[in-house]
Amino acid sequence: MAESYAELRPSSRLLLGPGPSPVDPRVLRAMSTPTLGHLDPEFLQIMNDTMELLRYVFQTDNQLTVPMPGTGSAGMETAMVNLVEPGDRAIICVNGLFGQRMVDVASRCGAEVIQVSAPWGQIIDPEDVKKALAQGGVKLVGIVHAETSTGVHQPLEEISRIVHDHGAWFAVDAVTSLGGIPVRVNEWGIDICYSGSQKCLSCPPGLAPVTLGPWAVEVLNKRKNKVQSWYLDLTMIQRYWTQERFYHHTAPVNMIYALREALRLIYEEGLEARFARHRLTSEALVAGLRAMGMEMAAQEGHRLVSLNAVRIPEGVDDLAVRKRLLQEFDIEIGGGLGDFKGKVWRIGLMGHGSRKKNVFAVLTALEVALAAQGHRFEHGAAVAAAEEVYQSISA
Ligand SMILES: *Cc1c(COP(=O)(O)O)cnc(C)c1O
Repeated sequence: MAESYAELRPSSRLLLGPGPSPVDPRVLRAMSTPTLGHLDPEFLQIMNDTMELLRYVFQTDNQLTVPMPGTGSAGMETAMVNLVEPGDRAIICVNGLFGQRMVDVASRCGAEVIQVSAPWGQIIDPEDVKKALAQGGVKLVGIVHAETSTGVHQPLEEISRIVHDHGAWFAVDAVTSLGGIPVRVNEWGIDICYSGSQKCLSCPPGLAPVTLGPWAVEVLNKRKNKVQSWYLDLTMIQRYWTQERFYHHTAPVNMIYALREALRLIYEEGLEARFARHRLTSEALVAGLRAMGMEMAAQEGHRLVSLNAVRIPEGVDDLAVRKRLLQEFDIEIGGGLGDFKGKVWRIGLMGHGSRKKNVFAVLTALEVALAAQGHRFEHGAAVAAAEEVYQSISA
């Protein structure tokens, strides 16, 4: 043990990686307000507000729409442990790390998993899902909407139709999409959808919003066996989030304050305005990166605007650049994972972080760091290209 421990003084980083994303000061203030008891009548109102606001961002009227304790992966576990029973046949789509994680989680629940794959950087082809479903007996299809490991934005509507035509239910990972790009749970027929608080919702990590449609609720209520996880059991948790207020586990009270405030910010801005902001900042960033001679990693036409994966130029030292960004400019960007390790950088423009000044901050810092690495490009071109995007919309 040390004689004493210093007071926490974390640096104010600009978080432009794959998450956590920058948090609005209003959210941090909400978090530091007095802790209420989790059965306090005042807290009931806060819970109700949070559920209502979550339905707004998920674009759903699903009654069972709640924040689960834990990070985005707890949302994934919640979907699988509640709706999968041992022996169920599941199709899981894999074109990146988080699809792989979903396979792992579904398998641990005893599912017989059929993988439908696409190369990293490509979308899942609906025809491949159709072929896999033709094997018959498939209970669910799971897919990642925004693959944070590759920067791919997966279209969902056609796959949802195919899934329901085959009588299966549809599970969607919206961890890096919710609050940044449209996630239309009702319109797209998503039966269960989960997210994480620290990506496009711009809240600190610690909560995983989930929503279950009528079909999913029916599957849940008709289970033959108890849910494998006591802690994530929605049959019990739903009784706490309704008027009954049945104690299950202590709600993470101050985290829920934070989420409520983050959602309130989204409601004030309006979903469509928020999506437009995410599209615009990404367009400006990509114009800047391309002006420095860099290429995006995701299939054209399916680039994710909340997470921009860009190929690291030949001969450039991945770690040296990221270290310099962090140490000299206080900017965090992400490295590559899995197949993309050492090959891409992942630049997140999520929620509160998706704004013009951050695009310019990361582009100028990259200019400095890339020039030092001997990468050749026209200086100033990146910032000029990004500005041109902004000029073109104001014209
Ligand atoms: C971040 C992420 C997760 C996991 O979330 P954690 O908060 O790290 O547990 C799952 N799926 C996707 C697509 C993600 O981006």
